[in-house]
Amino acid sequence: MIEFEQLTAPTEGERIHTSNGQMAVPNKPIIPVIEGDGIGRDIMKTARRVVDAAVQTAYGDKNQIIWFDVYAGENAMEKYNEWLPQDTFKAIEYFRVALKGPLTTPVGGGHRSLNVSLRQVLELYACVRPVRYFQGVPAPVTHPEKMDVVIFRENTEDVYAGIEWEQGTPEVKKVIELLRTEMGVEIREDSGVGVKPISIFGTKRLTRMAIQYAIDHGRRSVTFVHKGNIMKYTEGAFCAWGYELAKEEFADTTITEAELYSDYDGNLPEGKIIVNDRIADSMLQQILTRTDEYDVIATPNLNGDYLSDAAAAQVGGIGMAPGGNLNDEVALFEATHGTAPKYADQDVVNPGSIILSAVMMLEHIGWQEAADLIIGGLEKTILQKRVTYDLERLMEGATKVRTSEFGTAIIENF
Ligand code: NAP
Repeated sequence: MIEFEQLTAPTEGERIHTSNGQMAVPNKPIIPVIEGDGIGRDIMKTARRVVDAAVQTAYGDKNQIIWFDVYAGENAMEKYNEWLPQDTFKAIEYFRVALKGPLTTPVGGGHRSLNVSLRQVLELYACVRPVRYFQGVPAPVTHPEKMDVVIFRENTEDVYAGIEWEQGTPEVKKVIELLRTEMGVEIREDSGVGVKPISIFGTKRLTRMAIQYAIDHGRRSVTFVHKGNIMKYTEGAFCAWGYELAKEEFADTTITEAELYSDYDGNLPEGKIIVNDRIADSMLQQILTRTDEYDVIATPNLNGDYLSDAAAAQVGGIGMAPGGNLNDEVALFEATHGTAPKYADQDVVNPGSIILSAVMMLEHIGWQEAADLIIGGLEKTILQKRVTYDLERLMEGATKVRTSEFGTAIIENF
């Protein structure tokens, strides 16, 4: 059994095993959980209760999640005197699948966001954000129900890699000088400079995960979203490498949009997935105007950041949007909102985001029946207009319920 500095792993339950992308899930998997700061304490309690009830209803005593509390953020500071202890990384890496509430970003003194640190240290290269509509949720568009996409955003490269130099520093002067003398590129002396790396390796592992997801979940298309008309060797290359990967590894299951019209008269053959691409600015229009034409999306980091929130806003669900950060072995599912400290410990906020992230987690480990119970319960609860303050203030005739009561209503509605 794995040794920790200050933690003791549960004696009941077993580890989820992964090898070569295949997962073996025991009946009682141990799942590390980071409660989170602020409202994390409110929402995680409710999420655990809802998940436990769904698993019990779906499988009786046969299956059970053995939660393993690990520390990050304020509770880690108290226990370990550091924000993100090694024990936490170790537990997530070892047990493979984990659930996480929001964490405060420590202020001042060169602190990186703890969320970013977790993704970088564990090399969770894909940020996965499913966006769909729940009937009854107030949305700013006429047909929010047309949205049902899963966005795979590359998490480690692009301008987010953190390779940049501040204006006026000796470092940036050196970079500008090097580019001028060695590459013949003129950059204004008073510039700051950032680097946008996009690699074959980074692109192919992300597009592979997106296409595999589309196959596993019976989706009909995968769209590469890029700005390759302008940034040819980064964004354009992302698109080209995506198509290349589809040909190399998924020739039996994918066809390109061009082939759909040239070889199949526009009729998608049974069992095939269309691979296509869209320029990022056009995509931000199309996701609004031709929403139901999109399904699975794979995109570099910056585009993915914009697109995930824009899509979530369209269905009114930005406060309920779930997310997961994954690599081929480890998956960390998390609420996408922050710690909203002014509401902490009041049992009032919406636990939808963390509950739906837990649904992603259940689907990931193959416990679809439990996941479906929660989705059904949530849909019914929203239709009954028993909602937390954030939705109640936007819905006519709604009943305002507490975080915990919302969870109870979901369970009653299984
Ligand atoms: P925030 O915590 O997301 O809160 C902003 C506002 O969003 C809240 O005041 C509230 O709006 C609404 N909100 C967020 N979660 C909600 C929920 N579950 N139910 C209902 N309403 C909700 O953003 P922030 O105030 O910018 O950030 C606070 C801290 O969280 C910072 O330290 C930040 O770094 C951190 N953060 C962490 C993560 C993460 O862990 N993934 C993500 C983002 C931010 P109303 O007041 O209008 O009701």
